[in-house]
Amino acid sequence: RAKADGRGTYRFFEAEMDARLQERRRLERDLQQALLGEQLTVHFQPLGDCTTQQIVGFEALVRWNHPERGLVAPSDFIPMAEETGLIVPLGEWVLREACREAVRWPSSIRVAVNLSPVQFRHADLAERVIGILKDTGLPPERLELEVTEGVLIDDSARALSTLKALKDAGIRISLDDFGTGYSSLSYLQSFPFDKIKIDRSFIGNMPTNEDSRAIVRAIIALARSLRITVTAEGVETEEQLRLLRSESCNQVQGYLLGRPAPADDVSARLAEPAPELVG
Ligand code: C2E
Ligand code: MG
Ligand code: MG
Ligand code: MG
Repeated sequence: RAKADGRGTYRFFEAEMDARLQERRRLERDLQQALLGEQLTVHFQPLGDCTTQQIVGFEALVRWNHPERGLVAPSDFIPMAEETGLIVPLGEWVLREACREAVRWPSSIRVAVNLSPVQFRHADLAERVIGILKDTGLPPERLELEVTEGVLIDDSARALSTLKALKDAGIRISLDDFGTGYSSLSYLQSFPFDKIKIDRSFIGNMPTNEDSRAIVRAIIALARSLRITVTAEGVETEEQLRLLRSESCNQVQGYLLGRPAPADDVSARLAEPAPELVG
C-alpha cells in the first residue's frame, strides 16, 4: 500500500513538473516575443536627496505588459530571462530606453539602471554600455549602474575588470540590496562603489525594531567613512523618512516619494516648479 501511494504521489509530482515546464517554455517564448514587440516598457522611480529635498535621479525598472496575463512583475520573469540568456538583449534594451529618456531631463538628474550578473559574463559589457551612451548622447556621469553582490560571486576577476572599465569611463556604480548578501563587507574592499543602497527589509522594520535601526545606523556610518553615498530603499512612511534623516542618510527612494511610473509622468514631475520631496 505504502508503495502504491508512493508511486501515485510520484506520478502526480511528475505531471505537475511537466505542466510547470510547459508553462515555463510558454512564458520563455512569450518573453522572446515581448522583446521583439512592444510589450516591454520602462518605468521610473524617483530618488530624493535628504538634505536638499530635491529629486536627484530616477531608477529605471522594466515592466512587461503581457497580452493575456497583464502586467508581469520583474520577479516573475527576470530569473527566467537570466537562465535563458534573454537578460542580455533585455538588459541592453532597458539601458537604451533609460538613456534615451534621461537625456531629455535636466542635466542634474541621473538615471539608475540595474544590471544582472549574467550580463557580466560577456566580456564586452563595458564596451556595449559605453556604445549605448554614445548612441543616445547621455553623458556617462549621469548614469548609475546598479549591481548586486551576485556580480562579484560569479567570476570576480572578470566582473571587477568590467566594473573598473565602466567606472573609468565616468559611470557611477551602486551596490544594490545591501545587507541581503553573504559577505558584503569584503566587496566594499575589492571595488570602490560610488553608492550603496540599503535593502528595504531594514527600512521597513526601522520604526518598530531597534535592531534594524542599529543596522541602518551602522551601514550609514560605514558608508560615510568610506566616502560612499548611501540610499535607503523602500521608504514608505514619513516616520521612516524622519528616522533616516536623523541618521544622516544621503538619499531615499520608495513609495513615499513616488511609485515607479511611465516616462511621461517623470517629465511632468520634472516640469513642476520645484519638485520637492514630501515631509
Ligand atoms: P531593485 O533594483 O532593488 O528595485 C527596487 C524594487 O523595489 C522595485 O521593484 C520597486 O518597485 C520596489 N519598491 C520601490 N519602492 C518601494 C517601496 O516603498 N515599497 C516596496 N514594497 N517596494 C518598493 P520591481 O520594479 O518589482 O523590481 C524588482 C527587482 O527586479 C529590482 O529590484 C531588480 O532587482 C529587478 N529589476 C527590475 N528591472 C530590472 C532590469 O531592467 N534589469 C535587471 N537586471 N533587473 C531588474
Ligand atoms: Mg535597483
Ligand atoms: Mg534594491
Ligand atoms: Mg531588490
